[in-house]
Amino acid sequence: MKDFEVTARCGKARLGRLTTPHGVVDTPVFMPVGTQASIKGVPHDMLNCPVILSNAYYLYLKPGLEILKNFGGLHRFMNWNNSILTDSGGFQIFSLSALFKIRENGVEFRSKFDGSKHFLTPEEAVSFQFEIGSDIIMSLDRCMKYPSPRADIASAVNTTCAWAEKGLSAAKRYETGQKLFAITQGGTFPDLRRECTEKLMEHPFDGFAVGGLGVGEPLLLRQERLAENLDMLPADKPRYVMGMGPAPEIWDTVEMGADMFDCVLPTRNGRNAQAFTFSGKINLRNAKFKNDKLPIDSSCGCPACLKYSRGYIHHLFNVREMLAQTLTSLHNISFMIDLTQLIRDSIKNGTFPEEKKKFMNNWKGEN
Ligand SMILES: [Zn+2]
Repeated sequence: MKDFEVTARCGKARLGRLTTPHGVVDTPVFMPVGTQASIKGVPHDMLNCPVILSNAYYLYLKPGLEILKNFGGLHRFMNWNNSILTDSGGFQIFSLSALFKIRENGVEFRSKFDGSKHFLTPEEAVSFQFEIGSDIIMSLDRCMKYPSPRADIASAVNTTCAWAEKGLSAAKRYETGQKLFAITQGGTFPDLRRECTEKLMEHPFDGFAVGGLGVGEPLLLRQERLAENLDMLPADKPRYVMGMGPAPEIWDTVEMGADMFDCVLPTRNGRNAQAFTFSGKINLRNAKFKNDKLPIDSSCGCPACLKYSRGYIHHLFNVREMLAQTLTSLHNISFMIDLTQLIRDSIKNGTFPEEKKKFMNNWKGEN
C-alpha cells in the first residue's frame, strides 16, 4: 500500500489517505496547532483528531532535544498517540526576524526565552524533527513578508531550495517511515513560485507545502497564487497549505486540490470569546447570550456543547474564568474537525459544490 492515496475526487477536490508511523490520516484534514507541545488551553486527549501540529523551533529551545529523547520522543512526552507534524521554524525566522540572521549555511538566532545564541543548519533542523519522532517533518525554509522586493523573494527562493536539498540529504539516514515535506516559496510572483516548486519537485519529498502566503497580501491575490501553485504539485503527493484557517477559505482551497491545513484561529479566537458555528461566528461576551440555554452550536457533539449553555460560558467570560477559554477553544477545534468531515463526505458523495454553496449561504460572518 502506498503512503498516500487519493481515493475519490470531486472536481479538483480530493479525498485521500496518508499513512504515517502513528496511523492513517484521512484528508482533507485540519490539524490543531500545539506549538509548544500543547494546544493552548485544551487537553489534547479530549480531541478526536488524527494529527496535530507542533513547532520544532520552540521545542528545540524548550524543553530541548535531551529532555525529549529522555522521555522517548515527543509523542510519549505529551502522551499523544496519533500523528504529529512539526513545522521547522521557517515561519518563526520570518515573524521573529529581529532575533534571526540568515547565513548561507543556516540561521543564527537568539532564543526568545533567554536571549541565548544558537546556530541551526537546515540539516540539523530536519534531524531534530526526526530525532523527536515527528511523523511529518518540514524542511527549513525562508519566508518573506508582503510586500518584499522581487530580488529579496528570488534570493529567499534560492535559499529555500538549497536548504530543502540539504534537509533531504540529512533525512537519508532515517529509515523510519517518517515523512519529509518541502515548502514552496516565491511570494506573490507567479514565475518565482513556479521556479521554486519545479526545483523542489526534482527531489523525492514525501509531500509539499505551500508557504509564504497569508503574510499580508490581499485575499484575491493569495487565492490566485494558491490555485496556480496547487496545480503545479504532483497528483500523487499530499499538499499542505500552511496557516490557512478561516472556514470559507478552507472550502475554497480544498476546491483547488489542497489536502492539509493548520491554523491558530480556533484557539486564538476561542480565548477571545469568539465561537465558530455553522451559521457563522458568535461572540460569547455579547450580553444577548446571558440567558441563552442553548449550546454554542446545537449540531455539535463536543463536550462543551453536550454539557454547557451559551449563558453559562458567557458568565465564565464575564468573570474571567479560564474554563471559558478552554470550552470555547475546544468547541472551535471540534468545529474545524466536523467541517473537514463534512468536506470529506461531500467529496466522497460527489456533492462538494452543493455542500460548499450551502455552507457559504449559512455562514454569515459575525452574529
Ligand atoms: Zn461544540
